[in-house]
Order: sequence, then structure tokens, then C-alpha cells
Amino acid sequence: MRAPLIAFAFAVVVFGCGDDSSPPPEREVVLEAEVDGSGLSPEVSFTIPENTRSLTVVIEGEDSGLYALGAFTLGDSVDLVDLPSGDPGAVMQGSYNDEQIGQMEGDLFQSIRLGTYTHVYPYAPGQEAVPGAASLRVASDTAGPVRVTILMPEDDDARALPLNIFLVSETLVDPTSDAFVTELGRIFGQADIDVTINGVERVTGSALERITESTEPQEAPDSQTAMLPALVEGRDLEGLDIFFVDSLPQGIGGMSLGTPGPPLRGSYYFGVVVRGDLSPLSAAFVVAHEAAHFVALQHVENRGVSGAIYPDPLDDTSPGQDNLMEDGTVLTDDQAFALSRSALLVAD
Ligand SMILES: [Zn+2]
Repeated sequence: MRAPLIAFAFAVVVFGCGDDSSPPPEREVVLEAEVDGSGLSPEVSFTIPENTRSLTVVIEGEDSGLYALGAFTLGDSVDLVDLPSGDPGAVMQGSYNDEQIGQMEGDLFQSIRLGTYTHVYPYAPGQEAVPGAASLRVASDTAGPVRVTILMPEDDDARALPLNIFLVSETLVDPTSDAFVTELGRIFGQADIDVTINGVERVTGSALERITESTEPQEAPDSQTAMLPALVEGRDLEGLDIFFVDSLPQGIGGMSLGTPGPPLRGSYYFGVVVRGDLSPLSAAFVVAHEAAHFVALQHVENRGVSGAIYPDPLDDTSPGQDNLMEDGTVLTDDQAFALSRSALLVAD
């Protein structure tokens, strides 16, 4: 029996070295780009592999710069942004600073962000990470170099969201009571996502136990909350970091460092922050709401300084219903779809 087995193995090796053995495209690429005086970078090209769960684009630039996508073309060569002509910088500043919303103009629903920008696509049913030759352009109000990281995990039906709990406090007790874990599991269970707790670690001596300020419309690179991720930099952990602190500004139960946030450990926007003195059920709601922001979801609607209403990009949400992205706990089918695309999800 020995000889045929060797012959078979040899045949496999030969096949593997054949002419069609060019490696598949990388599922994580890091590219350099330069925004010029027009408020846009030249096109940056990459390749989307077959069977891709989603594209997460993270643009890292100057702390004082506003960033978004100026063009975004997948394997079907359609520009999903289709930005109006002209320098986008002034319009970005108007939406972020004056209207305090930060919604980018164009056809793609995207949140302008200071310092580090994140977009996850698809974010609604009907959208698809079309494989093939793709490209993007960076839009900014600030000229200069940026780093673009693109994560394209395999669509492997990963459905677990691990959480790493950090107690930034001398005194807070472990919040992961049965009541907390059960309610958190129930909320994400609506999206068929299995939340797991990797562990609970206390971090002391940081002077960040009491967060006294917040920044609109989103936290900035120099915000107190954006200093929390550096406290646990270098940990070799999967999943999302949740920072429980002694206190947050009046009336705030939690804050996400992204909507969505960059799934890159080491980024100053990696994680969500939660007030530590909540009941188990309230803490479960706040962690679920803020983690949902970080992974994918907008509020059902936001109101700008002008009074204008900005709805989320989903068809099956409406205000005044019981919904996690208002003050309830329900997730709709479209919200469940958006959550299921996250690069932070791992196999059970
Ligand atoms: Zn919120």
C-alpha cells in the first residue's frame, strides 16, 4: 500500500506548484496615501478577495484633520461615494463642527471623523463586498500623508463577539454578574451573535477613573476617553475592549470611541467606555448600545444643531419604537445584518 500513497502525495505537490498557483489577495492591507490641496488623495488600489465578509477601511491621519472617503470603488467598478465636485474640506468642517453631525456628502453613509476614520461596508442588506480590483480616495480638510488599513475577513459565518472588561478604578466590583451576562447575551442573541467575556482586569493609577468631559459630535484624539486604550496597549486579545470607569459626565451612561470604530488594537479609538455604578440590567443595555455603535450601528436618528434630522441608513428602523439604538433593547433584521459584518467577530 505504501507506493500508491507516495505517488498520490507527489501528485498533490506538483498540482500545488502549477501555473495557476498565484497566491490569493491578502485579507489585510496597509497602504500609504497623500491628501493634496484639492482635499482628496489620488486613487489607492487594492484587491478584494472572493468570499469577503466586509471591508473595514481605517484612515489614520493628523489628530486635527477631518477624514472620510472621497471615492470607494469595489470589484464592480461603481464609485459608491460619487462625491459632488469641488474641495470637500469646507463641507466636512461644516457638518462636523457647525452641525455637529459629521455626515459625509455623497451616496455612501459615512461618518466624518477627527484623526482616525472608520468605515465598514456593507452596512445594510443588499450591499455586497464585490470581489476584484478596487480603489479608494481619501477626503480631508487637511493636506498630508495618511495610512489606510483595509481589513477584509473571510465570510466564514463567525458569530462570536469576545469582550475584554477593564475596570479603570480602585473600587468598582466585577460587573459581570449573571444578570448582566444574561441580558447582554439576550440582546445580541437577537442578531444571532454570541457575546463572550474573555476576562476582567483591573487597571489602576491612570488618573482616568473619572472622565469629566465629552466631545461633540464624537470623541476626539485628545479626549480623556481616547487615552484609555493606551492603558492596555500590547495585550494579545481578540474582541472589543470595554472600559468601566468610576464616573462619566452628568447624564452619560457610556460612550463609544467609534460609530463605527477602528477594529485595530493600539488605536486611540479602540474601545467603549461605560459608567461603573449602573445596575446589572442598565450596564448590559449600555454595553450593548455602545458596543453596537462601535461595531456598526448609528442611532435611529440624530438631530443636528440646525434642528435637521439625520436618520440611520437602514430601512426597517423608525423612531419611537423599542430599539437598542434609542433607549430600548430590540434589534431589527437590518441592524442584525450590519452587526454580523464586523471584522471583530470570531468563530465560536
Ligand atoms: Zn448612542
